[in-house]
Amino acid sequence: MIKKASEINETTPWQEMTLGGEIYEGGTSALFNTGDWRTMIPVYHPENCKHCMLCVPYCPDSSIPVVEGKREDFDFMHCKGCGICAKVCPFKAISLEKVGA
Ligand code: SF4
Ligand code: SF4
Repeated sequence: MIKKASEINETTPWQEMTLGGEIYEGGTSALFNTGDWRTMIPVYHPENCKHCMLCVPYCPDSSIPVVEGKREDFDFMHCKGCGICAKVCPFKAISLEKVGA
């Protein structure tokens, strides 16, 4: 029997997993802390941010929340530390640092 992503946890034996741990339904990334793969982490410097929102659509993991037209600090549950946001920010409001540095 194929398990759904929501039924798989750290106690699930390998015999109940699909070959290669494949997941067959969509929209499952919200279930997982994919951000814990990060080796680099973006750091937000709000004093430099002009809320131009350029970084928001570039983030491949939708990890830059916007509330009432202003960007907030990162959603680290899903941010994978790719650094695209730091690269596109024209105002040096984001820097990229090593995790744990
Ligand atoms: S480092 Fe990458 S994944 Fe994380 S917030 Fe920036 S663009 Fe998104
Ligand atoms: S690109 Fe830079 S200045 Fe613009 S909203 Fe993002 S962090 Fe702020």
